[in-house]
Amino acid sequence: MSRQVIKRRSRGFICVNAHPEGCRLNVERQIAVAEQAPPREGAPRNVLVIGASTGYGLASRIAAGWGYGARTLGVFFERPPDEEKTATAGYYNTVALDQRARRDGLLAAHINGDAFSDECKREAIEIVRRELAPLDLIIYSLASPKRAHPRTGVVHNSVLKPIGQPYSNRTIELDSEKVVNITLPPASEREISDTVAVMGGDDWRMWIDALAQEGLLAPGVRALAYSYIGPELTWPIYRDGTIGRAKNDLEQSARLLDAFLSPKFGGRALICVNKAVVTQASAAIPVVPLYVSLLIKVMTEKGLEEGPIEQMRRLFADLGTNADLETDETGRLRLDDREMRTDVQAEIARLWPQVTTENLRLLADFASFQRQFRNLFGFDVEGVDYQRPVETNIELPPGR
Ligand code: NAD
Repeated sequence: MSRQVIKRRSRGFICVNAHPEGCRLNVERQIAVAEQAPPREGAPRNVLVIGASTGYGLASRIAAGWGYGARTLGVFFERPPDEEKTATAGYYNTVALDQRARRDGLLAAHINGDAFSDECKREAIEIVRRELAPLDLIIYSLASPKRAHPRTGVVHNSVLKPIGQPYSNRTIELDSEKVVNITLPPASEREISDTVAVMGGDDWRMWIDALAQEGLLAPGVRALAYSYIGPELTWPIYRDGTIGRAKNDLEQSARLLDAFLSPKFGGRALICVNKAVVTQASAAIPVVPLYVSLLIKVMTEKGLEEGPIEQMRRLFADLGTNADLETDETGRLRLDDREMRTDVQAEIARLWPQVTTENLRLLADFASFQRQFRNLFGFDVEGVDYQRPVETNIELPPGR
């Protein structure tokens, strides 16, 4: 038993604990948004989400389940609670999702394990075969700092660095809340290939191959993986950096998988380019917190702001139609259309050089960035009484 008052604990900017009640309310809020989804014919019924406990993967799962009644299997890697520590937020998110799904009679199975491993894939195959075959949608939404390669045993670590030359720009130093200049050294060849090994398309292809071999893919199946493009001011660290190389590899995998799924299943493999939002993964990228703080301010003022659940509700509304999906010239789905609007980007480019530590909260919406970041861990969530003791040692029931 560990009923206790949970106060946010940070190491630098990162929260090292999580609040179960805050996480539960976050999940409930997303479910409420998903339940407002427009009715659609032909929405996916059986959905596998890889990376399903936080950020875009969690929102995808909720949009599919509570928007369209889909049965879902979520795969994630989260730390359970123990005597000393709370669980991670993704664990508590899944506890809350699981409880709601049981109450609402929705099938929501899960695996808490390393998605890169063969063992996890085998376990997923068993659950899919038993509970939700054939799959008509597979969403790949992993963001991981490392990958142990299942064939070689080599552990690859991903880095967020520019390529070719050092990159200097302004960023928010998150723990001191100062706007500072940083210079990032360029990645080595090894760091580039390691990042591609972690965040590129190799593991996505392994998942689809394994599921296809077991005959678990439905006619018309769709495989989606998430990516980001963003404005030119972030390209040296994102699009043209190590993570961008990995995303190029993911796009190349989408083409290969599309060529495989299309003739065999009448299916599609697509990259979906999402909007920049506050997640544990995005907050770790230098320069991005300042960009996102400006983005929230500008998009909110224009009535365009969306979080992961609003983005995913939009994606599923479109995926539900049987019409051809609208893609850009290179075949990608674009949910970043509002972020990339000329007027939005012109305003950000105008504000960017003016931001200083002193005017950060005026020119950019750093307060929202900070609140949304704390929300990810269940803190600063409206409606939670943080003085009340809560049970932290909650068990996630077996995945199915
Ligand atoms: P996130 O950190 O919120 O979620 C990552 C998920 O991956 C979690 O569910 C985590 O448990 C899971 N995970 C990590 N390692 C794992 C492992 N070894 N085995 C199983 N599960 C594992 O990240 P996010 O920001 O939602 O990113 C998801 C995807 O969306 C990424 O491809 C990212 O590039 C893309 N994306 C993010 C943004 C953004 O602004 N956050 C924008 C566009 C695209």
